Amino acid sequence: ARAEIGVTGLSVMGRNLARNLARNGFSVALHNRTVARTNSLVADHGDEGDFIPSESMADFVASLKRPRAVIIMVKAGKATDAVIDALVPLLEKDDIVIDAGNAHFVDTARRERDLAAKGLHFVGTGVSGGEEGALLGPSIMPGGSAESYRKLGPIFEKIAAQVDGTPCCVHVGPGAAGHFVKMVHNGIEYADMQLIAEAYDLLRAGLGASPAEIAEIFREWNSGDLDSFLIQITAEVLAHTDGKSGQPFIDVVQDRAEQKGTGRWTVQSALDLGVPITGIAEATFARSLSGHVAQRAAAQSTFAGRAADTPIAGLVEDRKQFIEDVRNALYASKIVAYAQGFDHIRAGSKDNDWGIDPGAMATIWRGGCIIRAKFLDRIREVYAENPYLESLLVAPYFAEAVANGFDSWRRVLVTAIRGGVPTPVFSSSLAYVDALRSPRLPAALIQGLRDNFGAHTYQRVDRDGSFHTMWAEDKREVDA
Ligand code: NDP
Repeated sequence: ARAEIGVTGLSVMGRNLARNLARNGFSVALHNRTVARTNSLVADHGDEGDFIPSESMADFVASLKRPRAVIIMVKAGKATDAVIDALVPLLEKDDIVIDAGNAHFVDTARRERDLAAKGLHFVGTGVSGGEEGALLGPSIMPGGSAESYRKLGPIFEKIAAQVDGTPCCVHVGPGAAGHFVKMVHNGIEYADMQLIAEAYDLLRAGLGASPAEIAEIFREWNSGDLDSFLIQITAEVLAHTDGKSGQPFIDVVQDRAEQKGTGRWTVQSALDLGVPITGIAEATFARSLSGHVAQRAAAQSTFAGRAADTPIAGLVEDRKQFIEDVRNALYASKIVAYAQGFDHIRAGSKDNDWGIDPGAMATIWRGGCIIRAKFLDRIREVYAENPYLESLLVAPYFAEAVANGFDSWRRVLVTAIRGGVPTPVFSSSLAYVDALRSPRLPAALIQGLRDNFGAHTYQRVDRDGSFHTMWAEDKREVDA
């Protein structure tokens, strides 16, 4: 046995991860349910490093040095369980099973418990960066035992993206911490993309600009605070012309976005933990709404919606100011989305005793992953200064950006609302900040209503304790 690590599941992600490992000098055992995929990897890229292909799971396991490290890179869910079931009887104590697919962290926690009972390490690992990241250096978020990280750390840190000499990989925490953090990462990605989409929609409607013109605006934004992979590829997608029709590419694509799972899981988990991740939730619902074709058609014929290419330009007096306002609103909303995502990570970490260092997450997201951005360096710095920060929003750097954006944010939303351009994440993010900074919220009335209809009691501003008013009688207040 000579392979240092194995990969089973050689579709786009597994194939590229295996190549990345081999290119970095590790000998890699290969396996895939359908042998053709294994063969094509060796045929196409066998010269890139030391690959040891096997047709059967038994040969694959036998080709690995002990303690064995096996990466599973298959479709998340049942397929992962099927592979684990086939693999585990062939493994021995202290071997390490790494699930690098997009598993739900709840499944990861279950699988880790099951394998730990058999003396095996199970390492749920988040991998972000898509196909290209897997090959050239992804952001890697491993959970599992500290012991397993002692073996995996040097391998993963070598194949991960590197930023300023720092690998985009760290031991996130024990158990399912890695997959939890990957889930929230994807949730943030949902919010980030929806914000970009709303900004595009506003620019198109407000300026009557062509996609190619808007691509230029994004290209310019990418040289400032907003500098990020997603802004960069937005410019690329908007500038693209469809080869068949000669139309802007964006205009020949259906306006329905999928939400495959991680966004939904993020929102579900946030509800369980009581963390208001309003931006991520609105972004997830926006995708869901886009897919409700029949309801959209019914509403369109009822209310005569804004035609796609009717500019609200009449509402925009100063084009330059409008572009700057959209930029500021986008940046402020993005800060809110990240603040909420990091709140979610802190809450999940506390609830599960994972001890996740939020600054380390910002550090490993600086490269390799889809949300990589200059901005994450700022988050890293902010947490380095104060790891116990109540919210990213109150860190001086971000507080200033948000406060400076307020006027722009409100102007943009007034225009959007008057012109009928839907901006769920821009709007909810401003509402979130306005609510947080309100000295008094109408939640007092909610308390009053709940006490009135259900004797749910309330707390007073001037005395400790819980109270109930005898609403149906003489409205006397009693201690509850
Ligand atoms: P897919 O999710 O499309 O899965 C295909 C792979 O799963 C194939 O190797 C297939 O084997 C295998 N498979 C499916 N069912 C079974 C089964 N019952 N038993 C054994 N093997 C099975 O591949 P991707 O490469 O796109 O993704 C792999 C994982 O990485 C997924 O969990 C995905 O969510 C995650 N991921 C993907 C990213 C991306 O950008 N695509 C980014 C980050 C994570 P066969 O060839 O025999 O059909």
